[in-house]
Amino acid sequence: MKAIIIEPMKPGTARLENIQEPDEREGSVLVEAVAVGVCGTDIEIVEGKYGWAPPGKSHLVLGHESLGRVIDPGPASNLRKRDLVVGIVRRPDPVPCPNCAVGEWDMCRNGLYTERGIKEIHGYMSERWRIEPEYAVKVDPTLGILGVLLEPTTVIVKALEQVASIGRRSYWEPHIVLVTGAGPIGLLAALALKQFGFDVHVLDRVETGTKPELVRALGAIYHSGSVADIGFEPDAITECTGVGQVIQDSIRGVGSGGIVCLTGVGHGGVVTSASVADVAASAVLRNNVIVGSVNANKRHWYRAGQVLARADRGWLAKLITRIEKPENFLNALQRKPDDIKVVIQFSEV
Ligand SMILES: [Zn+2]
Repeated sequence: MKAIIIEPMKPGTARLENIQEPDEREGSVLVEAVAVGVCGTDIEIVEGKYGWAPPGKSHLVLGHESLGRVIDPGPASNLRKRDLVVGIVRRPDPVPCPNCAVGEWDMCRNGLYTERGIKEIHGYMSERWRIEPEYAVKVDPTLGILGVLLEPTTVIVKALEQVASIGRRSYWEPHIVLVTGAGPIGLLAALALKQFGFDVHVLDRVETGTKPELVRALGAIYHSGSVADIGFEPDAITECTGVGQVIQDSIRGVGSGGIVCLTGVGHGGVVTSASVADVAASAVLRNNVIVGSVNANKRHWYRAGQVLARADRGWLAKLITRIEKPENFLNALQRKPDDIKVVIQFSEV
């Protein structure tokens, strides 16, 4: 079968290749790939920055934002043939650490977790893949190809749950929230926050185009420019850019008692003038919390499914700005100015 593979840590090795059918040890459920979303993680793996092949193998099948159709549910699952499913990305570490032991692999303490398409387990960019029934999440069939947005939605559902649980440390009535970055994660954050009833503001660099339109279509307010210029102090900020200056402005700009949740992973960039002690002093004097959030566990996958199922299908469809064939995967991995979410489609829904 055809698969998009890489040799980890070796730039320029990404290729579409015929490989063996999926190993039965990867799970009793056999799935036909429908589509796989592409994100910054895939691009960095292809650039050779990180990525780990399964033990004893030299290549890794790429892809962690999956959508597929069940071909064979196997003997031990509640799935049926033709069900649309998405595969959970992370698997608990084998020790396991206390968090993995209770099913919170997103909070793994020892870093020995594995991840499909990233760390030691093949991903989902192959014509067929196998999965353990307990890691296959059924999606609302009316979503069709939009089910491929489930994985990025889980990341945001977990982040918002973190903010909500931190908020319970004291009396807190959040109303007005800011999302920085109007990429797929930021837009899905705005969608979820609107569903949860907040006054939602989204900030990004661009002034025109699909991003501002999608924000306004949700009934949220769009801002371009700096967090310092938005003219109010948000109760919480969901930071989705990973850009140093935006992070610094968010920490400075959040209201007293407010929470800044960091979901973006950036590198380097501009060295800003704020000293760590000054940032800390401001956090102390205003009771602020700055929290990082990554990945998601099964509870978040379930809730993310609810968020997508409730969403307007036309709005979700506009998040997918490009659909490429597997043969053109290199094109899919190229960032273009108007891209929000790029998807590689393996078969018809
Ligand atoms: Zn663990």
